[in-house]
Amino acid sequence: MPDLGSDDIAAICADLRRAQPEWEALGPRGRSAHLLRWLDWLLDNERRLLTLVQQETGKSWADASLEMSVAVDVINYFTANAERFLADRKVKPAGVANAVRKLRVQVRPHQLVGLITPWNGPLGGPMMDVVGALVAGAAVVSKPSEVTPLTWSEVVRGWRDEIGAPPVLAVATGGREAGAAVVDEVDMVMFTGSVRTGRSIAVRCAERLIPCSLELGGKDALIVLADADIERAAKAAVWGGMTNSGQACVGVERVYVEAPVYDEFVARVTEKVKALRQGMDAPGSFASDIGVMVTPSQVDIVAEHVADAVAKGARVLTGGERIPGNGFAPTVLVDVDHSMRCMREETFGPTLAIMRVADGDEAVRLANDSEYGLSSSLWTRDRRKADRISRRIEAGSVSINNALVATFQLPIPMGGWKNSGLGTRFGGPQGVLKYCRQQSVVEERLSLKSEPLWYPVVPARSRLIARAVRLLGAHDWRRRLGRRGR
Ligand code: NAD
Repeated sequence: MPDLGSDDIAAICADLRRAQPEWEALGPRGRSAHLLRWLDWLLDNERRLLTLVQQETGKSWADASLEMSVAVDVINYFTANAERFLADRKVKPAGVANAVRKLRVQVRPHQLVGLITPWNGPLGGPMMDVVGALVAGAAVVSKPSEVTPLTWSEVVRGWRDEIGAPPVLAVATGGREAGAAVVDEVDMVMFTGSVRTGRSIAVRCAERLIPCSLELGGKDALIVLADADIERAAKAAVWGGMTNSGQACVGVERVYVEAPVYDEFVARVTEKVKALRQGMDAPGSFASDIGVMVTPSQVDIVAEHVADAVAKGARVLTGGERIPGNGFAPTVLVDVDHSMRCMREETFGPTLAIMRVADGDEAVRLANDSEYGLSSSLWTRDRRKADRISRRIEAGSVSINNALVATFQLPIPMGGWKNSGLGTRFGGPQGVLKYCRQQSVVEERLSLKSEPLWYPVVPARSRLIARAVRLLGAHDWRRRLGRRGR
């Protein structure tokens, strides 16, 4: 794939800007029709596209398939709701003097949105954002990761060449420089990736005075209280920690278990992790539970975190080693603490580090002892306790008695706290409105010859207005009548 320079990217962006007004003029229904034809094409080419996902990531077929389900859900949700989300909003005026006015808020898209994505979900990742932007009426230049540019380039080719949709979506391949060039050209940036890159993009957006939305890294905690359904919690921890070979921003990385159920939980998790079938299986076979990893450098990070933990006293109950073909065996670590990298830095690999805690308070304190705050998971049968504890967890979402699911609920916000992000993805209307600018329109109901505040200032009239402000605005008679407060 070409490594595009800033001139190439500027040319792509100029073409997109030329095509955007016609796209916006189609309205949400017209735009949705193209998106739905794109969905048909994606489904018709599912096997070929997911094979490409597998080839550039080393995922299991099951993990690759999840990417298609994300695409289907996102396209269906936003096309079904776009018209409602983008409708003008009539608003009641505030204050007596404004009673004669009609207020409305209408939205217009940012003309050109830049979408920059990482390598862990070559299809599902960009899909999570591109649909909201397109349905809003924006044009989109998307920069996939240089590690996994194939699937997304093919999907964008499908948009342009196969379904013949308007040329308002383009792909800009290349590495860091290409990403930076995109940030320099667009009117709004939607970025998913590491904290380090996100921060540098936010700085550049501040210089250009354009908005950005950032979905960054995580170190998600799963808390198991003693009254939880331990079998279900263990299954969820394994799924949440190992899915996509642990290369999920919202993957479970740390587990805190109340002492009375700790041994049982650890035993069940270890047994399930040992049973996982790993490897890149044949397309369509669903023969593997998890795949291998996307980049050799990510395998190195996982190996370093495990070695650091072991050097500081942790025990490996299963896994703990590289496997041929760029993989890392699914790993359970115990006797861990917060001095270890595996409890503080994003591992982004198939590891679960499990720690014994005295009670829920200690679990919450440790879960919050992190620079990250993306998502979390909480296990208890006591609904009140779940409600109380969920309000104390410093993370953008909490899945109660499940793991990961909060991320894929399109009607509610998905976004990170602390270093895990800025702004949100999704969240019902917000998933589309974030790509728009609001325009407030105030219309006069009556057409008077003049207004009380217009020139010339007439002392008697101005005094009357000042008195009326007091009379209507004060909350006690002394002030209404113009007496001084004590
Ligand atoms: P990364 O930050 O290295 O790269 C992400 C993208 O940014 C790539 O396309 C890259 O080419 C581009 N880029 C790099 N430098 C740039 C710059 N200066 N200006 C503009 N673009 C630039 O991340 P990665 O290693 O590809 O992905 C892994 C990270 O992504 C992890 O931290 C993971 O947690 C995070 N992630 C977060 C979410 C989420 O929704 N919160 C989802 C998936 C992945």
